[in-house]
Amino acid sequence: MQRYETKMLSDCDEDIAYAAQLLKNGEVVGIPTETVYGLAADAENESAVKKIFEAKGRPSDNPLIVHISDISMLDRLVSVVSPVALKCAERFWPGPLTIVMPKSDNIPYVTSGGLDTVGVRFPSHKTAQKIISACGKALAAPSANLSGSPSPTLAKHVLDDMNGRIPAIVDGGSCTVGVESTVISIENDVIRVLRPGMVSVDMLKDVCENVIVDEGVLEQLDITAKVRSPGMKYKHYSPKAQVYIIKGGTRDVVTYLEEHIHTQKDIAVDFCGELAGDHVRVLPYGSTAKEQAQNLFAVLRNCDDIGAERVFVRCPDKSGEGLAVYNRLLRAAAFRIIEV
Ligand code: AMP
Ligand code: MG
Repeated sequence: MQRYETKMLSDCDEDIAYAAQLLKNGEVVGIPTETVYGLAADAENESAVKKIFEAKGRPSDNPLIVHISDISMLDRLVSVVSPVALKCAERFWPGPLTIVMPKSDNIPYVTSGGLDTVGVRFPSHKTAQKIISACGKALAAPSANLSGSPSPTLAKHVLDDMNGRIPAIVDGGSCTVGVESTVISIENDVIRVLRPGMVSVDMLKDVCENVIVDEGVLEQLDITAKVRSPGMKYKHYSPKAQVYIIKGGTRDVVTYLEEHIHTQKDIAVDFCGELAGDHVRVLPYGSTAKEQAQNLFAVLRNCDDIGAERVFVRCPDKSGEGLAVYNRLLRAAAFRIIEV
């Protein structure tokens, strides 16, 4: 793999023009979006997209999401836009929703992970929009982390994972959403949620009555199971430390931690400091689903930075937008749940 001296760019016009030029030249650039930072390349340029997979160490059958900055860009990318897809796009774009649609011939199979469909999203982040517009091309962009590790929500996280592997990162501050987009596919006017995000099931039901949540969202799929969303089968979002989800009332969780935590290398992640005590180091990740989504990945990365070996994360509420947080945490914890 080619090595680079990775430049940290700001979101000023001059730096955005520089980033866009790199992208036009077939290079990969780390870009901010409202969900998480992305590792972007020209979605129609096969050799550029291959560099994303190399930089990330991502399996080649795991498709990339293609980002646009204007709904009119859809025409080049997909062969059909169903009425339900159009309704969803009109309601939730720009925003954290990815819609899987039949791909056009302009999208190479490297981008779609070998599938005949492509996931498209119109991000609301102004810097992302400016970069896509300046480049004039739709950008394929998975999360800008090394495959398997927690997604980056700060430019520094991208640098930690990608230093030397890509030519540049645009710093657009902290991601306001913090977890990846909701991914949906649509068949016979039924919306299937392949990955939950901050566009919740209830919000989708507002547009279309028939919404189902794919079984892969909350369950560990059998290797032989038919996978509708290839990303579901890969190890995901994990820090180096072993993560456990701990489920139960505050007093029971405190008692469990007192009995089981004996070293500074064990860390508890709670909502807002309610588990704090002399016995245990605690990092909070927020008391609402929005806060938890915003902070989860940064807290997991923080645990690694301070040398944690085991991390006990208090189980979030799974309802509404919380489903997205729980889905990420389940994978970070490799489905290890302690019930107290
Ligand atoms: P990331 O790029 O890291 O945000 O992950 C993108 C995920 O979206 C993939 O791992 C898939 O699970 C899902 N996805 C993207 N495109 C498709 C598609 N065409 N069909 C089904 N799932 C998709
Ligand atoms: Mg990812």
